[in-house]
Amino acid sequence: MIFITYGSDSLAHLKHVRRLKSKILGGLYGQALGDAWGMPAYFEPQQTWNKFGWIETFLPAPDDHEVHTGLPAARITDDSEQAFSLAQEYIAAGGVTLEATVKAIINWYDRTGGDQSRYVGPSTRRGVLALRAGADPRVAGRMGDTNGAAMRVSVVGLINAGDPMSAIDDAEISCLPTHGTNVAISGASAIAAAVAVAMRDDATLDGIIAAGMLGAELGRKRGTSWLAASVTRRIEQAVAIARKGGDPMARLIEIYDSVGTSLAINETVGAAFGVLVMANGDPRQTAIYAANLSGDADTVGAIACAMAGAYSGIEAFPPEIIAALDQETVFASYRVHELAAGIERLVMGV
Ligand SMILES: [Mg+2]
Repeated sequence: MIFITYGSDSLAHLKHVRRLKSKILGGLYGQALGDAWGMPAYFEPQQTWNKFGWIETFLPAPDDHEVHTGLPAARITDDSEQAFSLAQEYIAAGGVTLEATVKAIINWYDRTGGDQSRYVGPSTRRGVLALRAGADPRVAGRMGDTNGAAMRVSVVGLINAGDPMSAIDDAEISCLPTHGTNVAISGASAIAAAVAVAMRDDATLDGIIAAGMLGAELGRKRGTSWLAASVTRRIEQAVAIARKGGDPMARLIEIYDSVGTSLAINETVGAAFGVLVMANGDPRQTAIYAANLSGDADTVGAIACAMAGAYSGIEAFPPEIIAALDQETVFASYRVHELAAGIERLVMGV
């Protein structure tokens, strides 16, 4: 299978990306859809089932939610807020830079009251505190090893539409200030490369999975050497479970038990490919599986649905899902149509 386009013309890869706007919007709405749909389900699968049954819509967070108590239905969380903040700064900077990454993350942290917030992840908090203390952005995140690197990286894939190798280089830049370990860069590179390939008109799920594994392998050669299971192996494991067929809940429980859905990035990224494949790349079905999988459901959902949205395009989203997100204040504040236009300009080099 050939899915990587090389060429002397720096825009040669774009001849395979003709549905650019639709796929950019699909990636952005997908990020928000999976995040908001999974937001209430930060539990074990059986607990989620006992509370909600099979989740098939946007729901508010329950009162005993450890992180999201008080959030209304269709509210996005840190995953999409950080992704959209990165997109804003990358558009302003004319591309993915270390300075823009730092600015986006620190501004987001301050804007959302990060010092008091329960939903700032452990690596992001450590990175922000180091940056504030004057650390070099290239090393501030040298011990960051959790899934925040992957939860926000889909926009890097959109910006590098059709060009997974550049997506991997930019993924590393987006990681360094907070998530500089090789496992974090591996997980982020997997998602950035997968989204970049999903943007192609002729994208297939097999091609997206292969790009994810390529990104995971190349990303693992970068950053601080760290102790962690292979992201590539977790992707393979999750995809194999997804492709067994049969009862979806049984497959979700197997992914939960053997791939995992904790904050560990190899688990999150593996699980995201699992639900993407179970849903055959359909954005709404991917969100349903991610929410019912539970664990760090909003992050698995955000990542998986960003891939699904980039693959399927915005036309694959039911109108009521678009409307529910558009009516939600935090999502609306990020003006995703303006972000999409800005990303399109970056992709086209204008
Ligand atoms: Mg979150």
